[in-house]
Amino acid sequence: MPLNEFSLINNYFQRESRRDDVLLGIGDDAAILCMPDGHDLVAAIDTLVDGVHFPENSSPFDIGYKALAVNLSDLAAMGATPAWATLALTLPEADAEWLEQFANGFFAAAEEYNVALAGGDTTRGPLTISVQLQGFVPQGKAVRRSGAQVGDHILVSGMLGDAGLGLAYALGQREGQGEAVEQLLSRLHRPSARVALGIALRDYVHAMIDVSDGLWADLQHILEASRCGAQVNIDSLPRSQAFQQLVSPEDEAWNRLPLTAGDDFELLCCVPAEQVSSAMALAAKLDLPMTDIGVIEPGAELRCVDKAGKLYHSTQQGYQHFT
Ligand code: ADP
Ligand code: MG
Repeated sequence: MPLNEFSLINNYFQRESRRDDVLLGIGDDAAILCMPDGHDLVAAIDTLVDGVHFPENSSPFDIGYKALAVNLSDLAAMGATPAWATLALTLPEADAEWLEQFANGFFAAAEEYNVALAGGDTTRGPLTISVQLQGFVPQGKAVRRSGAQVGDHILVSGMLGDAGLGLAYALGQREGQGEAVEQLLSRLHRPSARVALGIALRDYVHAMIDVSDGLWADLQHILEASRCGAQVNIDSLPRSQAFQQLVSPEDEAWNRLPLTAGDDFELLCCVPAEQVSSAMALAAKLDLPMTDIGVIEPGAELRCVDKAGKLYHSTQQGYQHFT
């Protein structure tokens, strides 16, 4: 039987969720969601366009997973608990195999982070996926980009540059295979949103952002919003074992990835000096490395130095659309 819009929604997207705050989910004109008392609603949306946000040969499972993960990362950066997603799907055709895999990827992320798919929209056109995600945070506790203060330490979770290096393999700009390459590809296609870490950190940090466009670009957003400058030590940027195995320290161009490449979805936060050890301990409890990479300064400039103190000038400073 051919898939029409409604059988498509029923077959692939109407799944039971464990959340009892979804009073009414897929099937009516809108969903009804119950906010917990004393909380602020936090909402984010991200759109993935074929060939722009994922390589055209990406698996549908990975596309589904990543479409939700990028939004989870935005909520993590606010210190919020994710809860309800809506999905706007534009498809060139209703391909049953593609939809099945896409939905499996989407719901894999949804189950991992206890998110309910509460509604959406389905249309025909060039492959485009928008996911809106809503969640909540105790009143007044959401972490903004604008709170960084001079003297704050700049901490970053996890490892940087893995997704960017993985992308170079996915696009055929670098060749190779093996376990290290597989690890990078998995970081590119199935990013882990640092949701638990964001929630744990929200009482300890002044400002936070997720690293989606690259450390340089995203730290710049914090600096603009907080009206301050920063110094970052590029040699201290955390590089995974896989990264170090594939890129030698002398290879300057590829070694820039942890500074400029996007898609790692780690958390970058500004922490007052007296809270740094607590923040580190919270990350350690979640088995996540956390690295102190620099300090917030007066002024408006982001200065990157190497361990010899030499100032580093970057030309390619992160991914931007329309440029
Ligand atoms: P309406 O015309 O009232 O906007 P639709 O026909 O677009 O309703 O959608 C019917 C129901 O299916 C709604 O509850 C909507 O939220 C849900 N829905 C549509 N597309 C999707 C999708 N891709 N994923 C999840 N739910 C969807
Ligand atoms: Mg609709």
